[in-house]
Formats: sequence, structure tokens, C-alpha cells
Amino acid sequence: MLEGPTSRLARRASQRRDRAWGRRLTWSPKVFLPLTNLCRNRCDYCAFRQRPGQDHTMLPDEVEATLQAGRDAGCTEALFCLGDTPESMFPHYRAQLDELGHESTVDYLVAAGRRAVELGLQPHTNAGILSSSDMIRLMEVNVSLGLMLETTSERLAERGGPHAAAPDKNPAVRLRMLEEAGHLGIPFTTGVLVGIGETEPELIETLVAIRELSRRHGNIQEVIVQPFRAHAGTRMADWPEPDDQVLLRAIALARLILDDDVSIQSPPNLAGLEVLLDGGCNDLGGISPVTPDFINLEHAWPHIAGLEAEAEALGFRMERRLPVYGRVAG
Ligand code: SF4
Repeated sequence: MLEGPTSRLARRASQRRDRAWGRRLTWSPKVFLPLTNLCRNRCDYCAFRQRPGQDHTMLPDEVEATLQAGRDAGCTEALFCLGDTPESMFPHYRAQLDELGHESTVDYLVAAGRRAVELGLQPHTNAGILSSSDMIRLMEVNVSLGLMLETTSERLAERGGPHAAAPDKNPAVRLRMLEEAGHLGIPFTTGVLVGIGETEPELIETLVAIRELSRRHGNIQEVIVQPFRAHAGTRMADWPEPDDQVLLRAIALARLILDDDVSIQSPPNLAGLEVLLDGGCNDLGGISPVTPDFINLEHAWPHIAGLEAEAEALGFRMERRLPVYGRVAG
């Protein structure tokens, strides 16, 4: 049972969510394609990135089979999620791209996205830091793009911090890409990663930065509030995970800081539904009937029927949505 300031914060956030989005809880049926798990960064919490020799890049046959499985299972979204510009660091990957007839990862993503569109799926891509020209190219086939801001804390990118070996996690670099996506008017997903060592004032500063971007450009559709989860084999395997109270406060802060037309999303495989709803969340993001959450492999997606029943017991109705939101709050 919540008490005190967190309870008041959650109540205000829930009321705000109810006014803006009603008691509907949306989700996007997706198929998840980790095109390559090579990445030029090394974030201390990441279990997705693999070393050369243990890496995997999806070949066109695998892309095709995965897309078809998604389509057959009724998915509408094809999520392409991968590491940052691996061709700049790994010669064997560069050679693999050459063999496939692509000059860059973005080229390969455009081809894969085109195939997704042909199969009736809507691609959404999160490929790390992209130039404006790469974003323009990707938008030939994608309906939206994404980049988690994660945090604006420069402290966490200093020596000893989780982003010290991840130059693309420099907040200025990420804010610049978000600004460019805004100038281009690209429907965009961003978000915060909660529990990697940021303070609450730093979390608030990050959410305010997203709000200012959103107000300047109006292209940010949704903000993900994602809790850190510890993975075996990473440098942060023993780092304490944020508890329900910390996550609930983060969701509530996001709902109260972001304007009403921005959807607040949190994944249902990383925390209990009641926590997400009590915090003021209105969306669960992509859930896949055919592919795992490759970023958090130990955390399986919950079954939709079970989630629907749980949501209903909590006073919410679950609804499918497309990767691009067809509405603003109201
Ligand atoms: S940038 Fe993403 S994929 Fe690369 S190491 Fe960091 S979290 Fe992992």
C-alpha cells in the first residue's frame, strides 16, 4: 500500500492519464528483428551486444521467415532494433554487408523494411545514432523511428559510469539526433532508462528535456519508462534493480512532466501491470506473440489473454494500436 508523497504523485498522474487517455490501455502486436547484435558501444548493463565470434547478423532468409511468422501471427509492427553502426568497428561485419550487396547497415535496414512493407507490416526502427540523411532514407519504408534518450546525466558517461565506453550515449549526441528528427517531423519514440545510477533530479531533467523537444517539434509520440534489469555476464550484473516504488515514481513523473498528447509507455514484461497503471501509464508498447524481447531475454512477454483479464480487473480495457498513433489525447 502506497503512502505519503509517492501516493499523492501517483494519484495525480493517474487522474491526468484518465483525463487525457481514458481507461484504455494500448499495445502494439509486433515482431522483433534484431538485425545485428554487434555494436560499437559498450554499455555496462547491456546483454544484447555480443563480441565478434559470438555475434549474429540476420541474413535475408531469416529476416523473411521472421517477418512472415509475424504477419501470420497477426502482428502489425516490424520492430528493427540493433546496435550502433557496427560497420565502423568490425571488419567481418563490413565484409558481410558487402556480400549482401549493402554499403551500410542503413542500406540493409531499408531493404528489410521494404520487404516488411510488402508483407503488410509497418516497420519501426531503432538503430542508435543516425544522421539526418540516414533518417530520411529510413523513412522511405518506416512509419516511425526511435532512440532512447535514457538520461541527460553526463556524470554517467564519465569514467566508472555505465556509459563510459559508449560514446553514442553522450547526452549531447542523443539530444542532437532527437532535435534533427524533430526538424524532419519524424514520428518518434524516445524514453528514459530508470535505475542505472541517475538521481531523481537527473531523471526529472531528462524528462524535461524530452518535453522541450516535444513542444518544439510535436513529433514525439511516446515516451518509454524502462526499468533497468540486471543481466548475468554484464558489468552491472549485481547492480540493484529499481524497485516498484522507484519505477512507479518515474512513470508518474513522466506523466506529470510530459504534455497530455504524449503517450507514456512501460513494458509489461519488466514490472507488474498494477505498478504501471498506478503510475499513470497508458500504453504497454510492442508485445510479440512470435519473438522474445531480445534486449531482456530472461523476461518473457506475458500472454495477452492474461494481461487483458488483469487489466479488466484493474478497470482498464486493452486495445491494439499501430506503431503510429492515430490520435492526440482528449
Ligand atoms: S548502445 Fe545499445 S546495443 Fe550498444 S551496448 Fe549500449 S545498450 Fe547495448
